[in-house]
Amino acid sequence: MTTRPLLHIIRSIPTSDGGGVKLRRSLGQGPGLRLDPFLMLDEFSSENPDDYVAGFPDHPHRGFETVTYMLDGHMLHQDHLGHRGDLRAGGAQWMTAGRGIVHSEMPQQESGRMRGFQLWVNLPAREKMKPAAYRDIQPEEIPAADLPGGGRVKVIAGTAAVDGEAVAGPIRGLSTDPLFMDVRLPAGGRFVQPVGEGHNAFVYPYEGAVEIGPAGGEQRLEPQTAGVLGAGDTIEVRAGGGEAAFLVLAARPLGEPIAQYGPFVMNTREEIEEAIHDYQSGRLA
Ligand code: MN
Repeated sequence: MTTRPLLHIIRSIPTSDGGGVKLRRSLGQGPGLRLDPFLMLDEFSSENPDDYVAGFPDHPHRGFETVTYMLDGHMLHQDHLGHRGDLRAGGAQWMTAGRGIVHSEMPQQESGRMRGFQLWVNLPAREKMKPAAYRDIQPEEIPAADLPGGGRVKVIAGTAAVDGEAVAGPIRGLSTDPLFMDVRLPAGGRFVQPVGEGHNAFVYPYEGAVEIGPAGGEQRLEPQTAGVLGAGDTIEVRAGGGEAAFLVLAARPLGEPIAQYGPFVMNTREEIEEAIHDYQSGRLA
């Protein structure tokens, strides 16, 4: 067993997107700040409706997947194909944009806390032009398991091993083989998880700091910071003092060239030009 060390960190920066939603972006601030196949991670968290009510009005995507995971609040998405989905606290939406989707993602609440994440996961070249698809995942479809030393893990994608038992999330069988877990640890708690050696992995604490790596060689990772992990077959995270909550993401890298223009992520500049042209002429999807 080799525990993955903390290799480097990507601090999140405050920014805004969509109609003016305030958020913190870690992965995806720039072309060098991705972790193949993860393109972007945004965290939105606010009690102030002015920070979120404008939502994300109609906008396109092509060539990758968007994953929205809600902790608090209520979001409605609608697309040009007539699909309509209600995203509740604790639920997730796994959208494969494929060759194209034009959709809106709009908060359905006028007060209170809105909190969650949007993750962008790249698609291999051969799947970038497949038809768009959605998985709307209700909170009760996301399995949660108690950890041996206290705390809890929710599994959104892939299969976790908890105390010798497999805990399978609702999203499985994708070509990047993603593992997406939401973990909460009490003070002094520890989370250990095997993960494929060929997978890239990172940890994003959203409440409290954590410590990463093998016993005796832990490195501290502050909240709102993505910690990219090095080589190994096991992830080990400890609560860094008080209680901690964090996302753990791992997936098989694609190793393909990336050409990105905003919401279009393809392999070449020509494919980007084609996407822009298709969008402008109403032929994206
Ligand atoms: Mn979108």
